Amino acid sequence: MMGFLQRLINKARLKSPYVFHFNSGSCNGCDIEIVAALMPRIDIERFGMKLVGSPRHADVMLVTGPVTEQIKERLQRIYDQMAEPKFVVAIGSCACSGGVFRGGYNVLGGVDQAIPVTAYIPGCPPKPSAITFGAYKLLEVLAEALGVAPPKKEEVEKIPEPVEVQVEEVEA
Ligand code: SF4
Repeated sequence: MMGFLQRLINKARLKSPYVFHFNSGSCNGCDIEIVAALMPRIDIERFGMKLVGSPRHADVMLVTGPVTEQIKERLQRIYDQMAEPKFVVAIGSCACSGGVFRGGYNVLGGVDQAIPVTAYIPGCPPKPSAITFGAYKLLEVLAEALGVAPPKKEEVEKIPEPVEVQVEEVEA
């Protein structure tokens, strides 16, 4: 009976990972791309991912920006508030390694300098499609760890590439 219940819990966990977004000092470029990934065109919710306002309700934390001396302790405190099992995704080059801020007098580097990171999505900023693809890869790894079927791959293949921006010539 417990085996069946555990399988049910694992399946539910994979089908509805709640995500919490934490900006540890990003320029907001990556944050805008996360918002775009949540909007209907890309629609990361197709994988059951839902943005929540509290780390206490979240399974996954999406972190943008480099980690500074000032933010390190707050980031660790917020991570500690999440229930187990919990996962962290570093979004953007700054969160992966410190990016353009690396080497700054107060910059420690990427998110993994403060808390354990499960997945890295590089780019400055990464496209919403890359964020969604990274989220899918995370779910694949989780599915394997939990012993349940991963989400359908066709859903990832449906993700459209961002629309090309056309800039008209402007006369001075
Ligand atoms: S990776 Fe680029 S877009 Fe993202 S926070 Fe750093 S500088 Fe900004």
